[in-house]
Amino acid sequence: LPGLTLVATPIGNLGDLSPRALTALRTADAVLCEDTRVTGALLARHGVSVALQPLHDHNESVQLPRVLARLRRGDRLALASDAGTPLVSDPGYRLVRAAIAEGLPVTAVPGPNAALTALTLSGLPPHPFLFLGFLPPRAGPRARQIAGLRAAERAGLAATLVLYEAPHRVAETLAALAEGLGERPAALARELTKRFEEVVRGTLPELAARYAEAPPLGEVVLVVGPPPEETVGEEDLDSRLRAALDGGLS
Ligand code: SAM
Repeated sequence: LPGLTLVATPIGNLGDLSPRALTALRTADAVLCEDTRVTGALLARHGVSVALQPLHDHNESVQLPRVLARLRRGDRLALASDAGTPLVSDPGYRLVRAAIAEGLPVTAVPGPNAALTALTLSGLPPHPFLFLGFLPPRAGPRARQIAGLRAAERAGLAATLVLYEAPHRVAETLAALAEGLGERPAALARELTKRFEEVVRGTLPELAARYAEAPPLGEVVLVVGPPPEETVGEEDLDSRLRAALDGGLS
């Protein structure tokens, strides 16, 4: 295919590289990738040799004009991440936006994604869901973002939350979520598609306590259940009724 093709690659299990993904990579004029060693190793396993070009957050603005020039010429370029679906907490958004703005062809070969895999295994409501990517690493900005979420929930947002987190920060993030959102059902999905795949389910405080002792091994996704349906207390109902009546009488 001429134009840009977003190619999803495995998140652990190399058997998850689809035949169509392999074809898109093999037939590309160049594969744009985060780390040429990672994508190079994946391609070498399949006997594919194709030009690799690094495209990551640090060089995306420099590379962008060159990549767009190639696409205008009709080159076939594939974009792959180290793992999973490009753009999802990975580089590529600016390129896709620029290609769309110029009317250049953009297509995707869908495939592995850690967030959706964790969501489907969590046992929590699959929709609506809100994918948050990584929360800010520092405590203050993270707490503010969680408080913003809680405010959105008070205003009616009732979604399952899906987050990425680095293993060494999982305990503090779970504690911050427990603090900001309260006792919610949650799941921690670890090493998805790999040999030691595991989904641990519990409440946010339970999971926070468990991983405060020892961080999880390997990569993890956190899934948090939606807020419980607001039950209006009797007193609250009384005052709301009174306020409504007062409003009507005045
Ligand atoms: N683009 C990728 C995707 O589509 O899932 C995500 C890239 S992001 C930089 C990496 C994060 O994804 C990890 O920190 C972890 O939260 C999650 N992740 C990736 N592979 C995983 C796996 N096999 N099991 C659990 N989480 C994984």
